Amino acid sequence: MAFRSFFSIFSSDLAIDLGTANTLVFAEGRGIVVREPSIVAVNKITNKVEAVGSAAKDMLGRTPGNIVAIRPMKDGVIADFEVTERMLDYFIKKAHGRSLFVRPKIVISVPSDITQVEKRAVKDSALQAGASEVFIVEQAMAAAIGAGLPITEPTGNMIVDIGGGTTEVAVISLSGVVFSRSVRVGGDKMDEAIIQYIKRKYNLLVGERTAELIKITIGSAFPGNEIQTMEIKGRDLVAGVPKTVEISDEEIRDSLLEPINQIVEAVRIALERTPPELASDIVDKGIVLAGGGSLLRNLDVLLRDETGLPITLAEDPLTAVVMGAGKVLDELSLLKDVTIQ
Ligand code: ADP
Ligand code: MG
Repeated sequence: MAFRSFFSIFSSDLAIDLGTANTLVFAEGRGIVVREPSIVAVNKITNKVEAVGSAAKDMLGRTPGNIVAIRPMKDGVIADFEVTERMLDYFIKKAHGRSLFVRPKIVISVPSDITQVEKRAVKDSALQAGASEVFIVEQAMAAAIGAGLPITEPTGNMIVDIGGGTTEVAVISLSGVVFSRSVRVGGDKMDEAIIQYIKRKYNLLVGERTAELIKITIGSAFPGNEIQTMEIKGRDLVAGVPKTVEISDEEIRDSLLEPINQIVEAVRIALERTPPELASDIVDKGIVLAGGGSLLRNLDVLLRDETGLPITLAEDPLTAVVMGAGKVLDELSLLKDVTIQ
């Protein structure tokens, strides 16, 4: 224990991916130290925060009615400043363990759509939580760095980060974002689409966690070689009792058509608006995907089919942003170039 707190004095600087679904914290010299859902459980009556992160997620659906789960970053904008502040504070303290001896430098990646006021709020929260200096980097930029793209070179790099609440498409060159577009479609909309489909077709009500499990298990964006099926339990809306149905990958693909089309459309628009020189770089080098949503089976195949461009997945799509932010923390030159006000 003594060694640990001694050690943490030296590795206090942090990089944070404040995602709509998951928050990750990278500590210099230690790697990823926090990886939890961006969820806060609040008591409606006392306004007290009952739990944050995994603990709050575990409480979902299992709590008395007066406790509500809030996802403060849900649509890529800060819905609730106070709750966001409490969440950041909790994750920063958790990353530090017991010792907060040295005030850390913190790099935080935020959705590109958030307003100046929201950025200020994020900065203030981190300062409140003990940071000495706070740097903001756009999520798409962090994802591109984390995915290993040569962002400092005079060449066009396209990154598509598909998160829980948003999909961010960005073209980056010479350490700057040349074009970016954020749409409020991602893994959450896919889950919702699955819930609606099963409700319409089978009169069966399934919860969000079940829908996400279905998506991860048999969901896909483009047909594969074999047919996959899954047994789903839910509540029959007519009889009001539990019921089981078997569902196929093709049905789930159908249900996902709309959110997936919106993602494809966002990529298409970004390609249309990219300056010609950079567009020709992208034709050669293709598009890199990051974010948990990019793990949907055969989404890369569909995008290849739709755009005719080479599509690759970041090595670990779920950690690309935090690893990129961590790299910004490590390299002073990057820190100067890619952080925004
Ligand atoms: P954010 O950056 O917005 O916090 P993440 O990049 O952490 O989001 O991605 C979370 C989303 O990725 C969730 O909607 C989750 O369901 C989805 N996801 C994670 N793994 C998979 C998978 N294997 N297939 C499809 N979707 C996935
Ligand atoms: Mg993200």
